[in-house]
Amino acid sequence: MSVVILGVFVADTAFHADRMPVMGETVLGRDFVLGPGGKGSNQAVAAARAGADAHFVTRLGTDDFARLARQTWGDAGVTPHVIDTPESYTGAAFIFLEHGTGQNAIIVSPGAAGLITPADIDANAGPIGGADVFVTQLEQPLDAALRGLEVARAGGARTILNPAPASELPDEMLALCDYITPNETEAETLTGIKVNSTDAALKAAKAFRAKGVGAAIITLGESGALYHDGDTTLHVPAMSVGKVVDTTGAGDAFNGGFATALSEGKAPEEAVRFGNATAGLSVTRPGAASAMPTRAEIESLLR
Ligand code: ATP
Repeated sequence: MSVVILGVFVADTAFHADRMPVMGETVLGRDFVLGPGGKGSNQAVAAARAGADAHFVTRLGTDDFARLARQTWGDAGVTPHVIDTPESYTGAAFIFLEHGTGQNAIIVSPGAAGLITPADIDANAGPIGGADVFVTQLEQPLDAALRGLEVARAGGARTILNPAPASELPDEMLALCDYITPNETEAETLTGIKVNSTDAALKAAKAFRAKGVGAAIITLGESGALYHDGDTTLHVPAMSVGKVVDTTGAGDAFNGGFATALSEGKAPEEAVRFGNATAGLSVTRPGAASAMPTRAEIESLLR
Protein backbone atom coordinates (compact mmCIF):
# COMPACT_ATOMS: atom_id res chain seq x y z
CA MET A 1 0.00 0.00 0.00
CA SER A 2 2.89 2.38 -0.64
CA VAL A 3 2.45 5.71 -2.34
CA VAL A 4 5.67 7.32 -3.57
CA ILE A 5 5.52 11.00 -4.42
CA LEU A 6 8.18 12.93 -6.30
CA GLY A 7 8.01 16.68 -5.92
CA VAL A 8 8.90 19.90 -4.21
CA PHE A 9 8.80 21.25 -0.66
CA VAL A 10 8.82 25.01 -0.17
CA ALA A 11 8.56 27.00 3.03
CA ASP A 12 5.62 29.37 2.59
CA THR A 13 6.39 32.74 4.18
CA ALA A 14 3.19 34.78 4.19
CA PHE A 15 3.38 38.52 4.89
CA HIS A 16 0.07 40.31 5.55
CA ALA A 17 0.11 44.06 4.92
CA ASP A 18 -2.28 46.86 3.94
CA ARG A 19 -0.61 47.24 0.59
CA MET A 20 2.40 46.18 -1.42
CA PRO A 21 5.40 48.48 -0.93
CA VAL A 22 6.53 50.34 -4.03
CA MET A 23 10.13 49.90 -5.14
CA GLY A 24 12.51 51.35 -2.56
CA GLU A 25 9.83 51.62 0.15
CA THR A 26 9.37 49.70 3.41
CA VAL A 27 5.87 49.17 4.88
CA LEU A 28 4.99 47.73 8.26
CA GLY A 29 3.30 44.33 8.08
CA ARG A 30 0.21 43.27 10.05
CA ASP A 31 1.04 39.60 10.38
CA PHE A 32 3.49 36.88 9.35
CA VAL A 33 2.93 33.15 9.01
CA LEU A 34 5.57 30.53 8.17
CA GLY A 35 4.29 27.14 7.06
CA PRO A 36 5.07 24.08 4.95
CA GLY A 37 4.09 24.16 1.27
CA GLY A 38 4.95 22.76 -2.14
CA LYS A 39 2.48 20.61 -4.07
CA GLY A 40 4.41 17.36 -3.78
CA SER A 41 5.05 17.74 -0.08
CA ASN A 42 1.40 18.66 0.57
CA GLN A 43 0.28 15.58 -1.38
CA ALA A 44 2.62 13.35 0.63
CA VAL A 45 1.23 14.74 3.89
CA ALA A 46 -2.33 14.24 2.62
CA ALA A 47 -1.57 10.62 1.66
CA ALA A 48 0.10 9.78 4.98
CA ARG A 49 -2.74 11.29 7.00
CA ALA A 50 -5.25 9.46 4.81
CA GLY A 51 -3.59 6.18 5.80
CA ALA A 52 -1.00 5.46 3.10
CA ASP A 53 2.56 4.28 3.59
CA ALA A 54 3.69 7.57 2.01
CA HIS A 55 7.19 8.27 0.72
CA PHE A 56 8.50 11.58 -0.62
CA VAL A 57 11.43 11.97 -3.02
CA THR A 58 13.01 15.42 -3.28
CA ARG A 59 16.06 17.62 -2.73
CA LEU A 60 16.51 20.00 0.20
CA GLY A 61 19.19 22.46 1.22
CA THR A 62 20.88 21.98 4.59
CA ASP A 63 19.24 24.99 6.28
CA ASP A 64 16.46 25.90 8.70
CA PHE A 65 13.70 25.41 6.12
CA ALA A 66 14.98 21.85 5.57
CA ARG A 67 14.35 21.26 9.28
CA LEU A 68 10.78 22.54 8.82
CA ALA A 69 10.32 20.07 5.94
CA ARG A 70 11.57 17.11 7.98
CA GLN A 71 9.48 18.13 10.99
CA THR A 72 6.37 18.37 8.77
CA TRP A 73 6.92 14.90 7.30
CA GLY A 74 7.83 13.42 10.68
CA ASP A 75 4.60 14.73 12.23
CA ALA A 76 2.51 13.37 9.34
CA GLY A 77 4.32 10.01 9.06
CA VAL A 78 5.86 10.57 5.61
CA THR A 79 9.11 8.66 4.89
CA PRO A 80 11.55 11.07 3.23
CA HIS A 81 14.02 10.15 0.48
CA VAL A 82 16.04 13.35 0.40
CA ILE A 83 19.16 14.21 -1.52
CA ASP A 84 20.89 16.85 0.58
CA THR A 85 22.05 19.75 -1.54
CA PRO A 86 24.30 22.03 0.53
CA GLU A 87 25.28 24.10 -2.50
CA SER A 88 21.70 25.36 -2.83
CA TYR A 89 18.87 26.21 -0.40
CA THR A 90 15.52 24.73 0.53
CA GLY A 91 12.69 26.05 -1.62
CA ALA A 92 10.83 29.09 -0.31
CA ALA A 93 7.82 31.14 -1.35
CA PHE A 94 7.31 34.81 -0.55
CA ILE A 95 3.56 35.36 -0.29
CA PHE A 96 2.27 38.91 -0.01
CA LEU A 97 -1.33 38.99 1.24
CA GLU A 98 -3.18 42.26 0.91
CA HIS A 99 -5.23 42.96 4.03
CA GLY A 100 -8.78 43.87 3.12
CA THR A 101 -8.91 42.35 -0.36
CA GLY A 102 -7.28 38.94 0.38
CA GLN A 103 -5.43 39.27 -2.95
CA ASN A 104 -1.95 37.81 -3.13
CA ALA A 105 1.30 38.14 -5.03
CA ILE A 106 3.81 35.31 -4.83
CA ILE A 107 7.46 34.64 -5.63
CA VAL A 108 8.51 30.97 -5.51
CA SER A 109 12.17 29.98 -5.53
CA PRO A 110 12.42 26.18 -5.77
CA GLY A 111 16.11 26.14 -4.74
CA ALA A 112 17.48 22.62 -4.28
CA ALA A 113 14.31 21.00 -5.65
CA GLY A 114 14.90 22.83 -8.92
CA LEU A 115 18.07 20.75 -9.25
CA ILE A 116 16.36 17.33 -9.15
CA THR A 117 17.72 15.27 -12.06
CA PRO A 118 16.84 11.98 -13.78
CA ALA A 119 19.92 10.51 -12.02
CA ASP A 120 18.25 11.32 -8.67
CA ILE A 121 15.28 9.25 -9.80
CA ASP A 122 17.54 6.35 -10.72
CA ALA A 123 19.12 6.60 -7.26
CA ASN A 124 15.61 6.09 -5.83
CA ALA A 125 14.51 3.46 -8.36
CA GLY A 126 13.93 0.93 -5.56
CA PRO A 127 11.10 2.73 -3.76
CA ILE A 128 9.70 4.30 -6.95
CA GLY A 129 9.55 1.08 -8.97
CA GLY A 130 8.33 -0.89 -5.95
CA ALA A 131 5.47 1.48 -5.16
CA ASP A 132 1.82 0.58 -5.57
CA VAL A 133 1.16 4.12 -6.77
CA PHE A 134 3.58 6.81 -7.97
CA VAL A 135 2.56 10.49 -8.10
CA THR A 136 4.33 13.52 -9.48
CA GLN A 137 3.60 17.13 -10.42
CA LEU A 138 5.44 19.68 -12.55
CA GLU A 139 7.15 21.89 -9.94
CA GLN A 140 10.50 20.09 -10.36
CA PRO A 141 12.28 19.82 -13.72
CA LEU A 142 10.26 18.04 -16.41
CA ASP A 143 12.99 15.51 -17.26
CA ALA A 144 12.96 14.28 -13.66
CA ALA A 145 9.16 13.91 -13.67
CA LEU A 146 9.39 12.00 -16.95
CA ARG A 147 12.07 9.66 -15.58
CA GLY A 148 9.97 9.12 -12.45
CA LEU A 149 7.01 8.01 -14.57
CA GLU A 150 9.26 5.71 -16.63
CA VAL A 151 10.81 4.03 -13.58
CA ALA A 152 7.44 3.66 -11.88
CA ARG A 153 5.82 2.19 -14.99
CA ALA A 154 8.74 -0.23 -15.50
CA GLY A 155 8.38 -1.40 -11.89
CA GLY A 156 4.65 -1.98 -12.23
CA ALA A 157 3.47 0.98 -10.10
CA ARG A 158 0.32 2.79 -11.16
CA THR A 159 1.20 6.33 -12.22
CA ILE A 160 -0.56 9.62 -11.52
CA LEU A 161 0.51 12.93 -13.04
CA ASN A 162 -0.91 16.05 -11.42
CA PRO A 163 0.09 18.48 -14.19
CA ALA A 164 0.53 21.54 -12.00
CA PRO A 165 1.64 24.15 -12.77
CA ALA A 166 0.62 23.32 -16.34
CA SER A 167 3.25 23.49 -19.03
CA GLU A 168 3.57 21.90 -22.44
CA LEU A 169 4.11 18.15 -22.13
CA PRO A 170 5.70 15.70 -24.55
CA ASP A 171 3.31 12.99 -25.78
CA GLU A 172 5.70 10.28 -24.51
CA MET A 173 5.07 11.62 -20.99
CA LEU A 174 1.30 11.46 -21.30
CA ALA A 175 1.55 7.89 -22.56
CA LEU A 176 3.22 6.96 -19.25
CA CYS A 177 0.27 8.22 -17.16
CA ASP A 178 -2.34 5.78 -15.90
CA TYR A 179 -4.13 8.82 -14.46
CA ILE A 180 -3.87 12.56 -15.04
CA THR A 181 -5.49 14.96 -12.55
CA PRO A 182 -5.58 18.55 -13.88
CA ASN A 183 -7.90 21.23 -12.54
CA GLU A 184 -10.01 23.22 -15.01
CA THR A 185 -7.36 25.77 -15.98
CA GLU A 186 -4.61 23.15 -16.27
CA ALA A 187 -6.87 21.02 -18.48
CA GLU A 188 -7.48 24.06 -20.69
CA THR A 189 -3.76 24.90 -20.94
CA LEU A 190 -2.90 21.33 -21.88
CA THR A 191 -5.78 20.57 -24.30
CA GLY A 192 -6.86 24.01 -25.54
CA ILE A 193 -10.44 23.17 -24.49
CA LYS A 194 -12.09 25.71 -22.20
CA VAL A 195 -13.41 23.71 -19.25
CA ASN A 196 -16.49 25.55 -18.01
CA SER A 197 -18.95 22.62 -17.73
CA THR A 198 -18.92 18.86 -17.19
CA ASP A 199 -19.48 18.40 -20.95
CA ALA A 200 -16.38 20.45 -21.68
CA ALA A 201 -14.46 18.52 -19.00
CA LEU A 202 -15.41 15.28 -20.78
CA LYS A 203 -14.11 16.70 -24.07
CA ALA A 204 -10.81 17.57 -22.38
CA ALA A 205 -10.66 14.10 -20.80
CA LYS A 206 -11.12 12.53 -24.23
CA ALA A 207 -8.30 14.70 -25.58
CA PHE A 208 -5.99 13.34 -22.85
CA ARG A 209 -7.08 9.78 -23.66
CA ALA A 210 -6.27 10.39 -27.33
CA LYS A 211 -2.69 11.17 -26.24
CA GLY A 212 -2.33 7.85 -24.42
CA VAL A 213 -3.45 8.67 -20.85
CA GLY A 214 -5.29 5.76 -19.17
CA ALA A 215 -7.92 7.83 -17.37
CA ALA A 216 -8.39 11.56 -16.90
CA ILE A 217 -9.83 13.07 -13.76
CA ILE A 218 -10.58 16.76 -14.16
CA THR A 219 -11.10 18.40 -10.77
CA LEU A 220 -13.87 20.98 -10.87
CA GLY A 221 -13.55 22.82 -7.54
CA GLU A 222 -16.87 22.92 -5.69
CA SER A 223 -18.42 20.85 -8.52
CA GLY A 224 -16.28 17.82 -7.69
CA ALA A 225 -14.51 15.84 -10.39
CA LEU A 226 -15.13 14.30 -13.81
CA TYR A 227 -13.68 10.81 -14.35
CA HIS A 228 -13.30 9.28 -17.82
CA ASP A 229 -11.38 6.15 -18.80
CA GLY A 230 -12.78 5.46 -22.24
CA ASP A 231 -15.46 3.04 -21.02
CA THR A 232 -16.74 4.77 -17.92
CA THR A 233 -17.61 8.44 -17.52
CA LEU A 234 -18.60 9.66 -14.09
CA HIS A 235 -19.28 13.04 -12.53
CA VAL A 236 -18.45 12.62 -8.82
CA PRO A 237 -19.91 15.54 -6.82
CA ALA A 238 -17.79 17.41 -4.27
CA MET A 239 -18.46 16.65 -0.62
CA SER A 240 -19.28 19.75 1.27
CA VAL A 241 -18.94 19.33 4.99
CA GLY A 242 -19.27 22.83 6.34
CA LYS A 243 -18.18 26.39 5.75
CA VAL A 244 -15.39 26.70 3.19
CA VAL A 245 -12.54 28.53 4.93
CA ASP A 246 -9.50 28.12 2.63
CA THR A 247 -9.27 26.18 -0.62
CA THR A 248 -5.45 26.37 -0.78
CA GLY A 249 -4.17 22.85 -1.27
CA ALA A 250 -7.58 21.39 -2.23
CA GLY A 251 -6.04 19.85 -5.33
CA ASP A 252 -3.19 18.42 -3.25
CA ALA A 253 -5.65 16.91 -0.78
CA PHE A 254 -7.55 15.35 -3.69
CA ASN A 255 -4.39 13.81 -5.17
CA GLY A 256 -3.15 12.48 -1.83
CA GLY A 257 -6.52 10.92 -1.05
CA PHE A 258 -7.03 9.53 -4.55
CA ALA A 259 -3.56 7.95 -4.58
CA THR A 260 -4.07 6.42 -1.13
CA ALA A 261 -7.36 4.79 -2.11
CA LEU A 262 -5.88 3.44 -5.36
CA SER A 263 -2.93 1.97 -3.45
CA GLU A 264 -5.41 0.03 -1.33
CA GLY A 265 -6.93 -1.56 -4.42
CA LYS A 266 -10.09 0.54 -4.46
CA ALA A 267 -11.73 0.94 -7.88
CA PRO A 268 -10.80 4.27 -9.52
CA GLU A 269 -14.37 5.61 -9.24
CA GLU A 270 -14.31 4.82 -5.51
CA ALA A 271 -10.86 6.42 -5.24
CA VAL A 272 -12.24 9.65 -6.77
CA ARG A 273 -14.92 9.71 -4.06
CA PHE A 274 -12.21 9.20 -1.45
CA GLY A 275 -10.21 12.07 -3.01
CA ASN A 276 -13.25 14.35 -2.96
CA ALA A 277 -13.85 13.52 0.71
CA THR A 278 -10.21 14.28 1.58
CA ALA A 279 -10.36 17.60 -0.29
CA GLY A 280 -13.85 18.46 1.00
CA LEU A 281 -12.57 18.21 4.58
CA SER A 282 -9.37 20.16 3.81
CA VAL A 283 -11.23 23.25 2.54
CA THR A 284 -12.99 23.68 5.89
CA ARG A 285 -9.64 24.49 7.58
CA PRO A 286 -6.97 27.15 7.05
CA GLY A 287 -3.63 26.28 5.47
CA ALA A 288 -2.62 23.46 3.14
CA ALA A 289 -0.49 20.73 4.77
CA SER A 290 -1.98 21.55 8.18
CA ALA A 291 -5.52 21.17 6.76
CA MET A 292 -5.17 17.56 5.60
CA PRO A 293 -7.73 15.29 7.32
CA THR A 294 -7.09 12.02 9.14
CA ARG A 295 -8.22 8.61 7.92
CA ALA A 296 -10.90 8.50 10.61
CA GLU A 297 -12.35 11.83 9.46
CA ILE A 298 -12.43 10.70 5.83
CA GLU A 299 -14.08 7.39 6.69
CA SER A 300 -16.72 8.99 8.83
CA LEU A 301 -17.61 11.36 5.97
CA LEU A 302 -17.85 8.48 3.48
CA ARG A 303 -20.03 6.38 5.78
P1 ATP B 1 -6.01 24.48 -5.33
O1 ATP B 1 -5.22 25.10 -6.44
O2 ATP B 1 -6.87 25.44 -4.56
O3 ATP B 1 -5.22 23.58 -4.47
P2 ATP B 1 -7.14 23.05 -7.48
O4 ATP B 1 -7.52 24.20 -8.34
O5 ATP B 1 -5.92 22.27 -7.83
O6 ATP B 1 -7.07 23.51 -5.99
P3 ATP B 1 -9.89 22.20 -7.47
O7 ATP B 1 -10.41 21.63 -8.72
O8 ATP B 1 -10.27 23.62 -7.14
O9 ATP B 1 -8.32 21.98 -7.45
O10 ATP B 1 -10.32 21.32 -6.22
C1 ATP B 1 -9.85 20.00 -6.04
C2 ATP B 1 -10.91 19.20 -5.32
O11 ATP B 1 -11.16 19.83 -4.05
C3 ATP B 1 -12.26 19.17 -6.01
O12 ATP B 1 -12.31 18.11 -6.94
C4 ATP B 1 -13.21 18.97 -4.83
O13 ATP B 1 -13.27 17.60 -4.47
C5 ATP B 1 -12.51 19.72 -3.69
N1 ATP B 1 -13.04 21.08 -3.51
C6 ATP B 1 -12.57 22.23 -4.03
N2 ATP B 1 -13.35 23.28 -3.65
C7 ATP B 1 -14.33 22.78 -2.87
C8 ATP B 1 -15.45 23.33 -2.17
N3 ATP B 1 -15.70 24.64 -2.20
N4 ATP B 1 -16.24 22.48 -1.46
C9 ATP B 1 -15.98 21.15 -1.40
N5 ATP B 1 -14.95 20.57 -2.06
C10 ATP B 1 -14.14 21.37 -2.78
